[in-house]
Amino acid sequence: MATRSPCLSDRASVGSDVPTIFVLLGPPGAGKGTQAEIISKQLGLAHISSGELFRENIKNQTELGVLAKQFMDRGDLVPDDVTIAMVRARLAQPDCARGALLDGFPRTPAQAEALGKTLEEIGTAVKTVPLIQLDEAVLVERLSGRWVCRTSGHVYHEQFNPPKQAGICDVDGSELYQRDDDKRETVERRIRVYHEQTAPLVEYYRNKGVLVSINGDQPIDAVTRDLLAALGVGSS
Ligand code: ADP
Ligand code: ADP
Repeated sequence: MATRSPCLSDRASVGSDVPTIFVLLGPPGAGKGTQAEIISKQLGLAHISSGELFRENIKNQTELGVLAKQFMDRGDLVPDDVTIAMVRARLAQPDCARGALLDGFPRTPAQAEALGKTLEEIGTAVKTVPLIQLDEAVLVERLSGRWVCRTSGHVYHEQFNPPKQAGICDVDGSELYQRDDDKRETVERRIRVYHEQTAPLVEYYRNKGVLVSINGDQPIDAVTRDLLAALGVGSS
């Protein structure tokens, strides 16, 4: 036991050095994935994207992937029980020992409660919840120009954050593709689902005193700077 690295599944070895958990909240297209990728590296925390975990399952044709795909294609949320189980398992991985930046989870009050319970078991709680805010018209523009890398989900925008070579990921050279659920009708449904099912989390986390609003309608590096300040780290 003593030789294992501490992780969320390993209460005995966590001690007082509990993991730091941040939750990025915001509508689809707000820039959560883009920022999580940058900030998780700077802070040395794991980046957990529930959408990316589902897409990996779809790519690997797992049972979970087959189930999730039906909901994702329609722009609906995947049921809470499977989503919670998937994220709990991810949080138990050793790379989450120091903590994690959650991107796209929780998305419902039930998921937020489940996350709270999981963290309570190891003596911690969500530390800060930056809410990235953006007008709906900008969200649609962002999602319709989004390109994602096939191998690891690195995110680009054909206009606002283009790759060096069109269609190729700068980081790993893999092919870029446009997500099926980024077509206009599905985007509109996803934004509606956000307002109905995820927006209540704004009050939930505000009541816990951990919510911080961030203006998402700025260049990527300006959003990063504001986020780091909100997380209490400040940029160098
Ligand atoms: P989310 O994870 O919240 O859905 P993404 O990080 O995938 O959002 O960003 C959505 C799209 O907007 C992507 O194409 C991304 O390159 C682009 N994008 C992200 N942040 C900005 C920004 N600050 N300014 C312009 N475009 C951005
Ligand atoms: P976006 O980057 O546009 O916010 P994500 O990649 O986070 O989108 O999610 C894509 C889809 O995966 C969602 O529309 C939903 O179907 C499913 N999904 C992702 N996270 C969750 C979650 N926490 N609960 C339920 N469904 C989820």
